[in-house]
Amino acid sequence: MKIKIADLEFEPLISEKVIVERTKAIGQQLNADYQNSIPVFVGVLNGSFLFIADLIKEIDRPCEIAFTKLASYYGGTTSKLKIRDDIDLIMDIKDRDVVIIEDIVDTGNTLHYLIDKLKKRNPASIAVCSLLLKPEALLSPIEELKYVGFEIENEFVVGYGLDYQEMGRNLRDIYKKI
Ligand code: 5GP
Repeated sequence: MKIKIADLEFEPLISEKVIVERTKAIGQQLNADYQNSIPVFVGVLNGSFLFIADLIKEIDRPCEIAFTKLASYYGGTTSKLKIRDDIDLIMDIKDRDVVIIEDIVDTGNTLHYLIDKLKKRNPASIAVCSLLLKPEALLSPIEELKYVGFEIENEFVVGYGLDYQEMGRNLRDIYKKI
């Protein structure tokens, strides 16, 4: 079913059911990979808030959670190079295994910025888990990107935490712009 948000129309791309299944599978992978560690999951706000909430429930061992807020979009549908650092990560991550949780990797600029910044704080390791990846839009490879929910075309999506002009974050499914 088509939906309208502000001036744009969107159609369904990934259903809630499929997101739930994939999130469970990623959670199991993380449980296996971090069985000898207490990882710190770093959610990148705002877009990842639903994904991280669902993913963390699949983690069956001790872990910590913290947040940072970055923005590379100012309401449009094309990524801007400038990154706004709205809320810094306040947790000490020295010698910790860090897993950054992202909603979507587009050009990769936001992640490169965040990874460079966190590396200076001397964590034991950094991995990235992103719900969505647009491989065609990625400007340079990101070695730390180890967990990806879904690879999608180079299209603008909303729902399940992702917004268009701050709306649509509450949608249970992911939609793409028509
Ligand atoms: P990048 O820096 O990789 O180009 O962009 C990453 C950020 O841009 C994401 O965290 C997200 O906030 C935003 N973004 C990129 N693509 C989309 C999209 O298709 N839809 C929405 N709503 N946001 C996007």
